[in-house]
Amino acid sequence: MKTKSNRLANIPPYKFAEVQKMKQKALKAGIDVIDLGVGDPDLPTPKHIVKKLEEEIQNPANLKYPSFIGSPEFREAVTTFYRKSYGVELDPDTEVLALIGSKEGIGHLLPSVIDPGDYVLGPDPGYPVYRMATLLADGKYYDMSLEASNDFKPKFDEIPNDVLEKAKVMFLNYPSNPTGASVDIDFYEEAVGFAKKHDLLIVSDSAYNMVTYNDYTAPSILQVNGSKEHAVEFGSLSKSYSMTGWRVGYVVGNKEVIKSLSIYKSNVDTGVFTPIQKAAAHALTSDQSSVNEYNQIYKKRMNTMVEALRSIGIDANPTNAGFFIWAPVPGGYTSEEFVATVLEQTGVIFTPGNIFGPGGEGYFRVSLAIPNERIHVAVERIREKLEFGK
Ligand SMILES: *Cc1c(COP(=O)(O)O)cnc(C)c1O
Repeated sequence: MKTKSNRLANIPPYKFAEVQKMKQKALKAGIDVIDLGVGDPDLPTPKHIVKKLEEEIQNPANLKYPSFIGSPEFREAVTTFYRKSYGVELDPDTEVLALIGSKEGIGHLLPSVIDPGDYVLGPDPGYPVYRMATLLADGKYYDMSLEASNDFKPKFDEIPNDVLEKAKVMFLNYPSNPTGASVDIDFYEEAVGFAKKHDLLIVSDSAYNMVTYNDYTAPSILQVNGSKEHAVEFGSLSKSYSMTGWRVGYVVGNKEVIKSLSIYKSNVDTGVFTPIQKAAAHALTSDQSSVNEYNQIYKKRMNTMVEALRSIGIDANPTNAGFFIWAPVPGGYTSEEFVATVLEQTGVIFTPGNIFGPGGEGYFRVSLAIPNERIHVAVERIREKLEFGK
């Protein structure tokens, strides 16, 4: 009996599994493990959003199959959010689509827009889903290398011509997971210009669009004139409102692309539970003070952790966005060796950078989506037990 497609057999192994194995071993050995690998916020979903869900779930009409493209309230709310945040006008009927989390949308986008053999350009290091979704759609993935010396932005002129000729899609992700880098609107201007020249679709993943601090606000690629001809932008409620388990996000922008994705989706899923959409609409359009409050918490944690890492000889720097620190591995270790050493000596788990692509080798990621007390214990252990020389 055939139990696995070649497509599935040929995708690279799930690298987080290695770290999970190390973690299980340490737990079994009775070590008090502090997992700074998880990207799932510890802070609770704000109460007014939970309350809205509780209300909406009482209405029997909301318990039926949801609308394929998303409830009118949700699509209107995303439209309002884009107008208020970015001054961008969207047509809620054709330029907004509700998603079961942005990961679902990214995964289903590729088989909706590319054919076997088409190239997809994506950030390296980057969110692993871009690569996997490309391979699952029989596409070819080209790693655009992101280097610290270029502020973790791709250099478009380094992409070889033979790749560009077959490239259909380019992923961009700012504020970035894992690097924490952010961009200004000039970068998006350049990217849209490049996309026009080479007839590419830009997919901007803005999962961390609201997780910003130090007076930085993240722009939207849709603020660039004419960008709707060449771009879609994915957004998520998961990180800004601590709603990872709710599974709700959206995609906005180019209407032909959104049409293709909605046709694909209508054949494999049936949308987001309506009460969740209504609560998400409420989150996007009501008081945003919880977002600011949470961002201040992440910022504090980041400063505490960066100081601790610097004190043991690691060249860590705070960022203006996201809840990750991305830092170079010290002293000749590979990413995996370093993570294993730190776990062995302190019980603290970092994420090895190579999980995010070949360009992540030599780096590690620290998540700050962990309760303050645990961050403090981790920091104490790091200061006490580790030293990598200056
Ligand atoms: C967390 C994350 C997502 C997925 O978010 P969901 O909306 O919960 O599916 C997408 N992109 C990046 C870069 C992320 O870190």
